[in-house]
Amino acid sequence: MSATATERLTHVTHPLVQHKLSYLREKDTPTVHFRKLVEEVTLLLTYEATKDFPTEDVEIETPLETATFPRIAGKKVAVCPVLRAGIGMLDGVLSLISSARVGFIGMYRDEETLLPVQYFVKLPTDMTDRDAIVLDPMLATGNSSAAAIGRVKDAGARSVILVTLVSAPEGIERVLAEHPDVRIVTAAIDRGLNEKGYIVPGLGDAGDRLYGTR
Ligand code: URA
Repeated sequence: MSATATERLTHVTHPLVQHKLSYLREKDTPTVHFRKLVEEVTLLLTYEATKDFPTEDVEIETPLETATFPRIAGKKVAVCPVLRAGIGMLDGVLSLISSARVGFIGMYRDEETLLPVQYFVKLPTDMTDRDAIVLDPMLATGNSSAAAIGRVKDAGARSVILVTLVSAPEGIERVLAEHPDVRIVTAAIDRGLNEKGYIVPGLGDAGDRLYGTR
């Protein structure tokens, strides 16, 4: 997979990801395509996000002989979408990690203060046994992502990876500073934020575009 990575930030530059993301950015892309593209890009980002999952050798009987081959070693995952736009990314992860449990974090952004308001949290009860993948498509100011990661950590998650579609440098800085143990995987690092806190050039309001509520 093509990616540029520092230890804690991976920007996935694979042509398929970038191609699909460009359609997501296009303002006339219809809701039905937007939804599908979000799922597909998330699946590709999940491939990259899970690249360090530990494996163990197990004995396998093929039709011809017995030999040892790698399998992922007892990994328990909690996928935690931030409502509402993170829900659009959920199936992309679950199509690769079908055994994952799902936790929901309800946050909305106060349009004046741009601060996150939490209204719902429902996480698996055994978070202390799980590695968490937090899904938030737009890493803008970083306020809501940082708060959502905080909730997942409070519940005892063993590790946290944040997967986003589009990130602003401000949001990346905020999350990495507040959560020095978290890794970010993103499909884009855009120029910055406008006066309303939207990522530019971005793709607009991900929730509205996913659910046709514009
Ligand atoms: N949330 C969105 O949906 N889009 C942005 O650009 C910023 C936050």
